Amino acid sequence: MSRDTCSKCGEKSILKGDISLRTSKDKELIMVVRQDHGVEKSVPLQPSICAQCGFVDLYVHDPIHLKISTEDKPINPDFKQRPLLESDF
Ligand SMILES: [Zn+2]
Repeated sequence: MSRDTCSKCGEKSILKGDISLRTSKDKELIMVVRQDHGVEKSVPLQPSICAQCGFVDLYVHDPIHLKISTEDKPINPDFKQRPLLESDF
C-alpha cells in the first residue's frame, strides 16, 4: 500500500511533510522492547497521519535494526534468557 493512502479509511489524505515524534528529553522517541529476550532498542518512529480520519500509522526507517542478533544483551542482568532460536533472526 502506498504511503499516501490511509490504511484505515483508504483516502489518499496522508499529511505531507516530514512529521516526526519526539520526547522532550531526547530525540530517541520510542524504545522497542523484545520482551522474550529482555532486549531494548531505541528506534525513531515515523508517523503518517491521515488528514481525513486522523488515523496515525507508525513505521521505522531501519527495521533491520530491530532484529535480534547474538550481540544483543538483555538490559537486565537478572533476565533469565531463553535460548536464542533460529526463528528469532
Ligand atoms: Zn484515514
